[in-house]
Amino acid sequence: MNLTSIELLDRLVGFPSVSDASNLDLVAFIGEYLMAHGVAYEVIPQPDGRNANIWATIGPRIDGGVVLSGHLDVVPVEGQPWTSDPFTLTPKGDRLYGRGACDMKGFDACVLAAVPAMVAADLKRPIHICLTADEEIRMDGARAVIERLGKDWTRPSVCIVGEPSRMKVVTGHKGYMRIDTHVRGHEVHSSNRYAGVSAIFVAARLVTWMEERDLKNKAEAEASGGAPYFDPGWTMLHVGTLSGGTAHNITALDCHFVTGIRVVPGDDGMRYLREYEDFVRREIEPAMKAVHPDAGVNITWRVGGEPLVREEDGEAERIARRLTGDNGIQVVPYGAEAGLFQAAGISTVICGPGDIAQAHQPDEWIEVSELTKCDAFLAGLIRECSL
Ligand SMILES: [Zn+2]
Repeated sequence: MNLTSIELLDRLVGFPSVSDASNLDLVAFIGEYLMAHGVAYEVIPQPDGRNANIWATIGPRIDGGVVLSGHLDVVPVEGQPWTSDPFTLTPKGDRLYGRGACDMKGFDACVLAAVPAMVAADLKRPIHICLTADEEIRMDGARAVIERLGKDWTRPSVCIVGEPSRMKVVTGHKGYMRIDTHVRGHEVHSSNRYAGVSAIFVAARLVTWMEERDLKNKAEAEASGGAPYFDPGWTMLHVGTLSGGTAHNITALDCHFVTGIRVVPGDDGMRYLREYEDFVRREIEPAMKAVHPDAGVNITWRVGGEPLVREEDGEAERIARRLTGDNGIQVVPYGAEAGLFQAAGISTVICGPGDIAQAHQPDEWIEVSELTKCDAFLAGLIRECSL
């Protein structure tokens, strides 16, 4: 059952593992493949019971291994003008088309294709395969796996996350944080509006706070140069959705809006939450409650992912540079699981086949030559881990 990375990519793309669908059939396929090569693995179910992650270790059961990390979920295809079946890998020239071909089943396929070589090698340092669910939405798959490192399993010291980077070594990405705001107003006929609290008027002030906070960061970054290599080089605040109110002549009882914050490495996403809470509790809520005690603002939040910060003399960077020959400094504007591994104390970089420009697009593709480069990278890694 030795398959090439292209043959494996063909199989993987055939599973429509969209983030909110089930990936259990894909996980079962990978499990059978690993078992066929005598590799023990563990399936870590997600709380939804419809998705799972895989963790496998090849080589000695000791600390200090290298994690190869990829995600199994893909983004939806609905509404996208595909010219071929997104879940059938379709070759045209040097390109292979299919949902996830680039982001990031291409890397997953290369890692699985390298399994027989990993098994045959005399590894002195373990290689761990980590394939996760739910990267595109919450990154909870990676969190569930990372929680168990050093407890149920040995603790690795290096992680290569194979997000598409054209096999360049990426040492930085932004973090992500989401804040949900629910403004609770007090409903009256608008002819009597001062006896009510308009959730929409309040939300408008809060949305403006978000924009002004973003503009303040922008102005500071433009004065200081901002976060090196990032474009834009500041932590950006953005309101993505807003809804509220029921009629033109009623003060709105409810208004909901969602803020996304892209945090540059070195900045602390939580400080925006603290400043925002402070503004709401001091300057907004008292006037609302003076009109009606039930009026107020609920704020909920979650950290979507930690930023990836360039490490001082990081081992992951050293290994990836040795194997790729790439000595440039690259950062990416998207979030990834790399920041979570790094936050767990594991030296981490991103290095994977394909170009992020093709990710999430209709007619997503990856070049065969990118898979070939990744195959060579993994062969080099196996050699390094056998020394
Ligand atoms: Zn991805």
